[in-house]
Amino acid sequence: MKLDRYGELAVRVALNLQPGQRLLIIGPLANGGVSFDAAPLVRAVAASAYRAGAELVEAIWGDEALLLSRFEHAPRGSLAEFSRWLPNVLADHVAAGAAMLSIYANDPDLLKDQPPDLVGTMQQAVSRAVVPFRQQISRNDTNWGVIAAANDAWAAKVFPDVPRDEQRARLWSTIERLCRLDRPDPVAAWKEHLAVLASRSDYLNTKRYSALHFTGPATDLIVGLPAAHTWVSGQSASRSGITFVANLPTEEVFTIADRARVDGTVRASKPLSYGGMLIEDFTLTFEQGRVVRISAARGESVLRQMIDTDAGAARLGEVALVPHSSPISQSGLLFYNTLFDENAASHVALGTAYKFTMRGGESMDDAAFERAGGNRSAIHVDFMIGSGDLDVDGVCEGGAEPIMRRGEWAAGPDSDARMRR
Ligand code: ZN
Ligand code: ZN
Repeated sequence: MKLDRYGELAVRVALNLQPGQRLLIIGPLANGGVSFDAAPLVRAVAASAYRAGAELVEAIWGDEALLLSRFEHAPRGSLAEFSRWLPNVLADHVAAGAAMLSIYANDPDLLKDQPPDLVGTMQQAVSRAVVPFRQQISRNDTNWGVIAAANDAWAAKVFPDVPRDEQRARLWSTIERLCRLDRPDPVAAWKEHLAVLASRSDYLNTKRYSALHFTGPATDLIVGLPAAHTWVSGQSASRSGITFVANLPTEEVFTIADRARVDGTVRASKPLSYGGMLIEDFTLTFEQGRVVRISAARGESVLRQMIDTDAGAARLGEVALVPHSSPISQSGLLFYNTLFDENAASHVALGTAYKFTMRGGESMDDAAFERAGGNRSAIHVDFMIGSGDLDVDGVCEGGAEPIMRRGEWAAGPDSDARMRR
């Protein structure tokens, strides 16, 4: 992996860092910060950021071994506690208009041998503690981004059949390809890709569907869309007008689900890694927006605790469409990490809705946002429902029309039609 090119992409395309801006680099919050395994990338990002005119680049480091030590030795009752200072640091940083980059270089199975109820308790505590920061992110108060770096534990999980000493290099080369860093001009390749995604979200915005209807194996789900829903893709704009790309890679177009109008049953098409534990082969049934039935072959108690975090955790905040032919899906790999897996399949998210997915949402207070159909919660957890067997219809006046058939776009903007020919 050419880390300097990756650093450039993170700074120029993901964050679009502005001269004079500060940058804070973090990692999964349960771990307290970015893994030491990502240090070479953190330094490459910092170098790019300074070249782009950054005023100051800082990192908050986190150590998985430290978190494991907590599970092994800390008093049981203390797992409901979270850092007193970290939530304020994050919120202060964003409030000052500084950019934020989160880098994932972690073990998706870190806590697999820990008691699930304690893992759930710890995750709840993290989610509740960082609500103000999550709200800032949900309003795009600043330019922010999420990227990933390979490490040994993650690589071993993604490539169990590859010889041990080759796993990490394989994961790096996969990240490189999926982030288009293997192209002669990655920045130009991203411009082109973002334009294709934007034509798709523009097209869906003209349709004004009142709901989406998903049908597939063990799935028959209606997801209502608020009247003011807005489809969003790759590129967003911060409050101060900086355009940025929150996820690298990104293949999705997404919008807001109506918190009160989700009905039916959906089966997850991929396992979900939540707080260092895997939830596998699970099904949720919704009535009037709320989850009323839960079953999972593995990790059910963590799933139940997640949905129990607060009232909004049992409702959907996001619905996203990703064709089955997306490069990430075609890799045939399971990443056990949402940044990649959510870009391999259509998905929905339990918990809080992004205010920027509703027209005028950023300036609504919470009560008005809820009245308009927006969900509020301390969590936002995407899980995958797409596959080559999923059909999606758009519900409109006088019936429904196909959006996807067998996981692929069935209708779309002219540019796509031309490209297919
Ligand atoms: Zn998504
Ligand atoms: Zn999401």
